[in-house]
Amino acid sequence: MHVQSPFDLSFEELEELLLSWGEPPYRARQLWAWLWRRLATRYEEMTDLPRGLRARLSQELPLSLPRPGALQLDAEEGTEKVLLHLSDGEAIEAVLMREEDRRTVCVSTQVGCPVGCAFCATGKMGFQRDLSPGEIASQVLHFARRLAEAGERVTHVVVMGMGEPFLNYAATLKAIRNLNHPQGFGLGARRFTVSTVGVVPGILQLAGEGLQVNLAISLHAPDDALRRELVPLGRKWPLREVLQAADAYVTATGRRVTYEYVLLSGVNDGLKEARALARLLRGRLAHVNLIPFNPAPGLPFKRPPEAGVEAFRRELLRHGVDVTVRRSRGVRIQAGCGQLRARHLPP
Ligand code: SAH
Ligand code: SF4
Repeated sequence: MHVQSPFDLSFEELEELLLSWGEPPYRARQLWAWLWRRLATRYEEMTDLPRGLRARLSQELPLSLPRPGALQLDAEEGTEKVLLHLSDGEAIEAVLMREEDRRTVCVSTQVGCPVGCAFCATGKMGFQRDLSPGEIASQVLHFARRLAEAGERVTHVVVMGMGEPFLNYAATLKAIRNLNHPQGFGLGARRFTVSTVGVVPGILQLAGEGLQVNLAISLHAPDDALRRELVPLGRKWPLREVLQAADAYVTATGRRVTYEYVLLSGVNDGLKEARALARLLRGRLAHVNLIPFNPAPGLPFKRPPEAGVEAFRRELLRHGVDVTVRRSRGVRIQAGCGQLRARHLPP
């Protein structure tokens, strides 16, 4: 079982707790700044908090951090992937990507994933449990501490690691709000991107949050029959409903939606599919992100040749759809979805 940590609490919850302990109102701001701005890892560091309070916090709200284990680096790409061990023995992975001035952390929201997409290593692992808000945010804080040593900061967060964020909606949103809090980590809402496999109620709920975060939707196929084969949840939420929810998101936020499309050789990478995808998205405030398949042991798909990726891209452009190709960063260190854990831990 996950033991609650201070990173699991919102500012208001922390404030309420400290007030109930008889602390003055400014205590919560002090503690919050230590946790989220000064990136403290131990209560002992917080020397302007009374000793008695630090002792009580250690007892009742232990500051347990995920313990970094196996680390993989790609010096050329500047990509780093870390396996983080959680207090109950589970492990998750988080990735840091360096791109010019950008420092992007990719976070997981679940241990494993219950969705089970056919091409995804995390999906093949099955589902262990949801992460807590603190466990999600701690992945960002881990890299923030590392970057701080070099005088750098995390500039972007993508919720694209292990798990389906909208099947762990409350914890994901709380982690984002905590990281966004101006008195703490202070990362602007527009610096976050949440990727969902198309959980319609989650998309609609996010539209109502009043938050300017970016939404990415994993489409992977232009018709329901093919999509259901690749994405089992396609049975529950057909494309029409997913796109309607995306439209509601655009209306509520004014933000362009990204559609992710994993290119699987001979499966969904034909020009026919490109044209069908263009028809689906035409007239929408949309952007397609093509992701050439990242191979992993046990996954029965192939990455299309470079020329195939390029042809698909051009066909979308020709039909008026904005598109980029995600040059799979981290492939050499197996920083694709679920792959580090799959290699280091027994199934
Ligand atoms: N569950 C969410 C977010 C995590 S997966 C979702 O599915 O959107 C993040 C992205 O990685 C998704 O677009 C997913 O389709 C993609 N992905 C998963 N396995 C992959 C693989 N083997 N190669 C390339 N992309 C993959
Ligand atoms: Fe889960 Fe996303 Fe992987 Fe599908 S692609 S199994 S939703 S993590």
